[in-house]
Amino acid sequence: MNSSLSSQDRNSLSQAKKKRKEYRKKLLHLKKKRPKQINDQFNTLHDHEFETMDCLSCANCCKTTSPIFRNVDINRLAKHLRMKVGSFTEKYLKLDEDNDYVLKSSPCPFLNEDNTCSVYDFRPLACREYPHTDRKNVLQIMDLTINNTEVCPAVARIVEKIIQE
Ligand code: SF4
Ligand code: SF4
Repeated sequence: MNSSLSSQDRNSLSQAKKKRKEYRKKLLHLKKKRPKQINDQFNTLHDHEFETMDCLSCANCCKTTSPIFRNVDINRLAKHLRMKVGSFTEKYLKLDEDNDYVLKSSPCPFLNEDNTCSVYDFRPLACREYPHTDRKNVLQIMDLTINNTEVCPAVARIVEKIIQE
């Protein structure tokens, strides 16, 4: 976890780490009982959180996890960087346990000192869509969302609010 996070954000992440099992149990229960309502709640709380969340002062996702790179993402980025696809893959990527391409190292090599992204217009789709809590069917990616409560302070607060309500 990065030390540039605010104390509120650090607290949200450490609380989420402790409550991981509880989140999973309660979200599974809510998913069975009232999925539509919970999905809507995720989307509403997402909009609310990101009205005030300043991602440029956080960048914890770019610093600690990797997006998945689909072939189309790799091709676009390699072309932008004027690199051969093979060289790009060899330099930056590895295959994970699900056979998806992810970054070899973190923080992301394309993250600038000021937390901006040096390849912003060419970044992978997974970066564009992160943290996915505004998806129509968030409950379809529940495990990923629970993992993200330990990466993204906004997701940690969204899940905590859903559990409490
Ligand atoms: S490509 Fe850009 S947005 Fe995606 S993880 Fe790297 S720095 Fe972050
Ligand atoms: S998406 Fe979440 S983890 Fe990433 S910069 Fe924004 S608040 Fe931080």
